[in-house]
Amino acid sequence: MKKLILLFSASIGLLIGLQAFSTTIPWYMKDIPHMTHHLYPENCATIKYRQHIRTFFRRIHSLIVHRNNIDSAIQEIDAELEAIRAKFINKEKKALQKIKEKYDLDNHIWSQCLDDIKRVKQHNLTSLKSSQQNASHDENVSQEIKNILCDLLKQNDIHPLSISVTMADSENNALEAEAVGSVVYTDDQETLIIYPRYVIQEITFWMKNCTNSEELLAICAHEVEHILQQHMITRRIIKLYLRHYYTISADILNGCDAFNRLIKAQEQQAEIFAALRDPHVAHCMALKRKCKYYPNYLYEKHYYYLSTIDMLWKLRTYLISVKDHGGIVDDAKMRCKKLLNFI
Ligand SMILES: [Zn+2]
Repeated sequence: MKKLILLFSASIGLLIGLQAFSTTIPWYMKDIPHMTHHLYPENCATIKYRQHIRTFFRRIHSLIVHRNNIDSAIQEIDAELEAIRAKFINKEKKALQKIKEKYDLDNHIWSQCLDDIKRVKQHNLTSLKSSQQNASHDENVSQEIKNILCDLLKQNDIHPLSISVTMADSENNALEAEAVGSVVYTDDQETLIIYPRYVIQEITFWMKNCTNSEELLAICAHEVEHILQQHMITRRIIKLYLRHYYTISADILNGCDAFNRLIKAQEQQAEIFAALRDPHVAHCMALKRKCKYYPNYLYEKHYYYLSTIDMLWKLRTYLISVKDHGGIVDDAKMRCKKLLNFI
């Protein structure tokens, strides 16, 4: 009988665990209508509730299936986090391919464009490691924002004085902050030439006050990730190529589905990659997106992925603590002891 119960529990744990390993959206998400703004908080509350259930079964799954080797459970989580990263790298690649297909771009010009993007990005990432002469930090940006931002930049090997930080002097309800970057080029001849020169990149803040430090961290981490991925360089160089070789203006491109797909993929990366770098950032990102969507780009599906990453980090921390306490049995004894002392 005991064996039967154990087998039954193991099967349930395994089934739920395996379902949760997938990087695809789960079945219940299909019932959630997207882009219905007024229902967003309710939909995210439903997702969060499901994630709690999932967390519970993931713990059982890990403890049953990996009871003799906690390290393998931790490795499994690392592989899942990596699979999520790969998924979102792929989304950007597909979006780039869609732009090429949409405008039937010549193979040679397109590969030159991708090479220029890669070259300028690499050059900029090197420049970002040291302070730059013309970079400045606006005194109108609050000290709290500066502290959070500078900590994040340093953690990611970016010198805080390699970029400028400014407070916008106009109102913009749609934006909280924005990373801006440009390139040096000449397009007065037949060939467009893009130079690998670093132009001071900038993070501009629109929100003046934010009482919630977790939300502030999420906003700063989003912009720092744009800098780390050099997203604005990709967008800028594609616009330059399409204008120079195909007379397609930036306005036309901004209204094009394929280009918007690229922007969406990069906005997703800005949050998913930042969450994959740091468990606390993942927690803050998930908290923020539980209540606020990013109009036109990030909705319930995005919250699902952020809350999954947050759940995986927390599960990982739990498994490390189990391992540190000498395995499942010793950990359970220690927790019981703590509980008894508390009672
Ligand atoms: Zn963004």
